[in-house]
Amino acid sequence: MSGAAFSADPLPGKVAVARRCHPSLPFDVERVRADFPALEQTIHGKPLAYLDNAASAQKPQAMIDAVTSAYTHNYSNVHRGVHTLSQRATEAYEGAREIARRFMGAARPEEIVFVRGTTEGINLVAHSFVRPRLAPGDEVLISAMEHHSNIVPWQIVCEETGARLRVAPITDRGEIDLDAFEDLLTDRTRMVAVVHVSNALGTINPARRIVELASRRGIPTLFDGAQAAPHLELDVAELGCDFYTISGHKLFGPTGIGALYGRFERLAAMKPYEGGGEMIRSVTFEATEYNDPPHRFEAGTPHIVGAIGLGAAMCYVEETGLDAIAAHEHELLIHATKRLGEIPQVRLIGTAAEKAAVLSFVVEGIHAHDVGTILDHQGVAVRVGHHCAQPLMDRYGVPATARASFAFYNTRQEVDRLVDGLHQLLEFFGP
Ligand code: PLP
Repeated sequence: MSGAAFSADPLPGKVAVARRCHPSLPFDVERVRADFPALEQTIHGKPLAYLDNAASAQKPQAMIDAVTSAYTHNYSNVHRGVHTLSQRATEAYEGAREIARRFMGAARPEEIVFVRGTTEGINLVAHSFVRPRLAPGDEVLISAMEHHSNIVPWQIVCEETGARLRVAPITDRGEIDLDAFEDLLTDRTRMVAVVHVSNALGTINPARRIVELASRRGIPTLFDGAQAAPHLELDVAELGCDFYTISGHKLFGPTGIGALYGRFERLAAMKPYEGGGEMIRSVTFEATEYNDPPHRFEAGTPHIVGAIGLGAAMCYVEETGLDAIAAHEHELLIHATKRLGEIPQVRLIGTAAEKAAVLSFVVEGIHAHDVGTILDHQGVAVRVGHHCAQPLMDRYGVPATARASFAFYNTRQEVDRLVDGLHQLLEFFGP
């Protein structure tokens, strides 16, 4: 096991502490794979090749141990208790916030709000930050490659306020047309919300350039970082965005937890998203004084152990090393692009110059669901469908694609098994 620096020590009294994690060993994919128990299984009698990481990633033992330890020995509700277990749980929960701060590159832990995931992060910003600032005729700008979770919340607040959702077009390769994007920034634009890495195309968008263009006009920015966090080193302070949100389950952490970065001045100026316990300073029947960020946005009992697990997953990724992860995944991307390119019936959707290790493709004449089912019988797990990006599928004139999405624990052999599976599929369906 390469081991995470996040303590999963089962001894009572030992809780996780935030400390900087560095790769202690050179990257070795076989050693990394041994940290992920789910990868050891067979599916339909074949070794599992898990290529559905963009939907959700598998979990390292260090993360599972941190969750088990938290529930076994260090569990209680947070913030409210004077007793030892509550103090331990609080320390671990706030320790996870500090890890998330460091992982995302925020200046202070108060800028990290624990949310259910990217979807909740975007909804929180849409309702608490943008909606009160929208008047009829105002605009929110997104791109044509957004996940539904970065479309629908904006549609809702636009409908409620008479504002207009504008969509920056993309090129055939799957890159944002930056000239058109810039033309769409007007004196009515109140928010720019763009995906950092596209789940359906793999495109890595030029986040810094987008912030530059928007902030030059005083327009706040949000990035949907659901797919970026597992692949790229994040530095929100350097990026200069106002909001950035990620999902724990795509980052080798638990489901039901994610993090929203918000620039402190923005969070401090925002009203709560939900009301309840924990988010208040004082309550009378006449009036409530809200707590400071981030607690103002964490009403009720939070997903305590989820946050602890997310912290452990972030430490695991840091210790594996984001540079090594990027290099390994890039090699997989190059290999997979070449091998899929050798199959004439396969058409790649999304060929941007800057890409994460995601390959969306259609097999001419064969429905994507058949592609997914036949690959599953070979033990190869890929996702098929519209990937919660129906407008993007419309842009390419396809109802669905098959998508292989890689993580750092995937191998060249697994790419080759995907290609072998596609050859079997083509044989099965005949010429
Ligand atoms: N944005 C992108 C690009 C995604 O890929 C996803 C999930 O697939 C989401 C947002 C939504 O994330 P979650 O379901 O974790 O809230």
